[in-house]
Amino acid sequence: MIIFGSKATQVATKNINDECSNCGTQNSIQMTVFQKYAHVFWIPFFPIGKTGVTQCSHCKQVLEKKEFPGNLKSHYEALKLNSKTPVWTFSGIAAFIVLAIWGVVSTSQKNEKNANLILTPQKGDIYEVKMDFDQYTLFKVENVAGDTVFIIVNEYETNKVTGLVDLKNKGDEAFIQEPLPMLKTALKSMLEKGEIINIDRK
Ligand SMILES: [Zn+2]
Repeated sequence: MIIFGSKATQVATKNINDECSNCGTQNSIQMTVFQKYAHVFWIPFFPIGKTGVTQCSHCKQVLEKKEFPGNLKSHYEALKLNSKTPVWTFSGIAAFIVLAIWGVVSTSQKNEKNANLILTPQKGDIYEVKMDFDQYTLFKVENVAGDTVFIIVNEYETNKVTGLVDLKNKGDEAFIQEPLPMLKTALKSMLEKGEIINIDRK
């Protein structure tokens, strides 16, 4: 469940010299400008415009922005222009952008690492393999001879990519000790097709 909504924070306040339209008192109106912002789980996400209110210190009448008479509208526009949007109201969207960039960078680093490892297989390399029907298992490099890589296959499968951790924890005994010869080019093609999703090298 995502809890989101909008809040407002005070960004400017000013005494207005005009007379109150309700009680006629001079110099009794205080205007306040608020910055509205969207929040998600109470974390300010991004600003969504400003609003304002006035209160008369004499008759206590409160007017919202949409009720402002013409003179208060002009005061409001001027005060709004002079009030800055606090940088912290962008916190969530800024964090989101940083995370998105980090995700893109770390994915491209992982892809580069895997592309290098597939071309230089070594005994002990573990390939995370996605099979048909969204099942996952592990391949392990048992031996390399020229262009041929001898693979042993894990005897277990998992239907979640996160389940591969459990397969790794089962250790060497979980691999079927009948090495399967595969060409380096075939393994490279499996990586490119997304059938090998990651490579571990100790
Ligand atoms: Zn008044």
